[in-house]
Amino acid sequence: MKLWDVIVIGAGPAGAVAARAAALRGLTVLLVDQATFPRRKVCGCCLNRHALSALSAAGLGELPAKLGAVPLERVRLATGGRNAVVRLPGGVALSREAFDVALIAEAVQAGATFLPGTRVRLDESESTASCVSLSSGLRAKALIVADGLNGRVRADAPVVQTGSRIGAGAILTDAPDDYEPGTIFMATGHGGYVGLVRLEDGRLDIAAAFDASFVQTHGLAGAASKILQSSGLPGLPGLLDANWKGTPPLTREPVQVAGPLWFAIGDAAGYIEPFTGEGMAWAMASAVAVIPLVERCVAGDSLDLPAEWVAVHRACVGERQWACRALARSLKRPTLCRLAVRALQWIPALATPVVRSLNRSLMSPSGVR
Ligand SMILES: Cc1cc2nc3c(=O)[nH]c(=O)nc-3n(C[C@H](O)[C@H](O)[C@H](O)COP(=O)(O)OP(=O)(O)OC[C@H]3O[C@@H](n4cnc5c(N)ncnc54)[C@H](O)[C@@H]3O)c2cc1C
Repeated sequence: MKLWDVIVIGAGPAGAVAARAAALRGLTVLLVDQATFPRRKVCGCCLNRHALSALSAAGLGELPAKLGAVPLERVRLATGGRNAVVRLPGGVALSREAFDVALIAEAVQAGATFLPGTRVRLDESESTASCVSLSSGLRAKALIVADGLNGRVRADAPVVQTGSRIGAGAILTDAPDDYEPGTIFMATGHGGYVGLVRLEDGRLDIAAAFDASFVQTHGLAGAASKILQSSGLPGLPGLLDANWKGTPPLTREPVQVAGPLWFAIGDAAGYIEPFTGEGMAWAMASAVAVIPLVERCVAGDSLDLPAEWVAVHRACVGERQWACRALARSLKRPTLCRLAVRALQWIPALATPVVRSLNRSLMSPSGVR
């Protein structure tokens, strides 16, 4: 069986961007995913400025425009029948079907081999000091684990934060014109929040985070309907019959982000619930940042790399995740959300520092923004 330089498990934004970057460095790369593409992924489908800068750092800055992504101009925050509009400094909406397929095509064009429909696991008992072994007999000098939130490539289960919300999503082919392109609609209420945005093909993407108990009482569609109704946003015929999909609890951290010959990136390296819509930025930034370490690993220098990846990953996305965690905590207080929306109705500029901070470029591995 062939010995690859690098095997990347998971062909979401993290895995596909890493596979492309590694192939461009002249490494032999196998990108594996259990799914066949396009596949459905619960996601708000918004690439904020910070995600676009991560995409540019990967050399793929032109991709969203080529795919017809919808420029985002504002976010409408709604709660308890009141709403406030906050202007956005950039960002686009793009379906995950189109985005993920295009990223994989870029990886293949750069020289990576793509193997879809194949579920793999790390086989630690067969791995050696210089070669990592996977189920299906696959072998590599270095492994990038990009298997997402629900990944089980490694045996150790992630640590899930107590009270973590669960994610849910649906896509409507028909939705009222009130949901105009270029606006993110964000309804918050008791039990969670629901984000809605028009995609490049006119469909309406709905992505939500709910308290688990709220979903047990109302179901996924019922929970979304309750929050939309209480927020005062326009009703959505078809919401209850849509094809809803849920996720496991969202806020989690793996026990380890690296080990002998392997590195975790993207959601597999930890995730915070998605109100700020930054997951794809973290995924792509960590994909770019890991490549110098992977190159050294392939060259046989593997001694201190796990500890180095912990430090680089923390500098690259850890700080941002801390801010996102703080915001997620405040969102659990409906009264605070109502007060915030009321304040923003009167003084929209109050949102400027938060929006600016969320859209600022990510820290590069060298520490330069
Ligand atoms: C409700 C919600 C809304 C969100 N909204 C936004 C948003 O608006 N903007 C934003 O930037 N982010 C958003 N996110 C986060 C974003 O979706 C993720 O952060 C992003 O998809 C992470 O990319 P990834 O490549 O790490 O993982 P994924 O995209 O999940 O890809 C992981 C891949 O690994 C594959 N895989 C898993 N296990 C195996 C295995 N054993 N073998 C082979 N393949 C395997 C899976 O099939 C999958 O294709 C949202 C998330 C949720 C839940």
